[in-house]
Amino acid sequence: MSGMAGRLLSAADLFPGGVNSPVRAYRAVGGDPPMIVRGAGSRVWDAQGHEYIDFVGAYGPLIAGHAHPAVENAIRNAAANGGPFGHTSPAEVELGRMIVDAFPSIERLRFVCSGTEAAMSALRVARAATNRDLILKFEGSYHGHSDALLAKAGSGMATLGLPGSAGVPAAVAATTLVVPFNDLDAVDAALDRHRVAAVIVEPVVANAGVVLPLDGYLEGLRTLTRRRGTLLIFDEVITGFRVARGGAQSVFGVTPDLTLLGKIIGGGLPIGAYGGRAELMDLVAPVGPVYQAGTLAGHPIAMAAGAATLQLLDDAAYARLELLGQRLEEGLARALPRGRIVRQGSLLTAFVDDFPALHRRFRSAGVLIPPSQFEAWFISTAHAEQDVDRAIEAAAA
Ligand code: PMP
Repeated sequence: MSGMAGRLLSAADLFPGGVNSPVRAYRAVGGDPPMIVRGAGSRVWDAQGHEYIDFVGAYGPLIAGHAHPAVENAIRNAAANGGPFGHTSPAEVELGRMIVDAFPSIERLRFVCSGTEAAMSALRVARAATNRDLILKFEGSYHGHSDALLAKAGSGMATLGLPGSAGVPAAVAATTLVVPFNDLDAVDAALDRHRVAAVIVEPVVANAGVVLPLDGYLEGLRTLTRRRGTLLIFDEVITGFRVARGGAQSVFGVTPDLTLLGKIIGGGLPIGAYGGRAELMDLVAPVGPVYQAGTLAGHPIAMAAGAATLQLLDDAAYARLELLGQRLEEGLARALPRGRIVRQGSLLTAFVDDFPALHRRFRSAGVLIPPSQFEAWFISTAHAEQDVDRAIEAAAA
């Protein structure tokens, strides 16, 4: 509890930058980040008792808002049952079925504990399947913090202005090709020049702010990769169950070889998943030669929270998210005439000249948005029209 001097250690003493994930330190917007003690619905409260309307949404998982009663109950019931068991439990089968139902491209999947793990593991499968080492990613996309995927990454890497991470062996970095998003010629040229195991893409980029794929771009990636025997991996860690039940692949009608999921499927608890055609997934141990494992993978509490969350996501929920998204987009466009608002469903970014000033304005109006121009804002089914209007007023102030 206490340090050597006998005083209580603070977050700043205990964690690098006072945080357990870099963007939380508010380096890009300035000011001290609030310490959040509680959330309910669309609201969170800080240690001083200030109430905020929350558009951070834990960076994606909380599509039903904070502490939704159905999710909370599922967590309580699962916790009361004990576990994890070091054996398969029915909750894994239940959540697995819901995912396979929603994603026709996924016949078989593996649960892991984060999006990072999902991406890292899918690359291993792709390399094994193709017997090739190189992967191709896009500038400003983020696929978690595994060594191979930190080149020119978005999210916190972009927030901190870092081109890549220290500590990544040059030999590993050399296996990653990076090209600009929305430029099919660049992909075509790279695939011509190199034997690439997989192209990994956020079908709607959410880690460089929200960036939409140009018309035909995802289809183009599908054609170019198929032609070269390169696998196409859709990172739907954010977009899965967010932009539609079946993710961006259902919205744009493009079928990847492998899909990465996370965030929403765990209802706010640690989770990730990767999946695809059975013959690809059967490369994974114990059936195949690709090793991948996890003590806490398929954790019954995460499975229960995820299943309870997915159960809430009916057509009405997506219709409501779309309406709220439209309202926020239109309101922000009026309030910020020199800004650019980019949105897909309940995922949105306001690109403005002075983001730190915008963030300060929101915070003083009691509205929390991500403390970075490069992170998306998340709307939940718990947001009311008035919550959205409060955000619009804050932007206009
Ligand atoms: N892929 C995408 C598209 C993400 O946005 C993120 C995290 N924001 C990840 C992967 C990594 O997920 P995690 O933080 O759970 O490791």
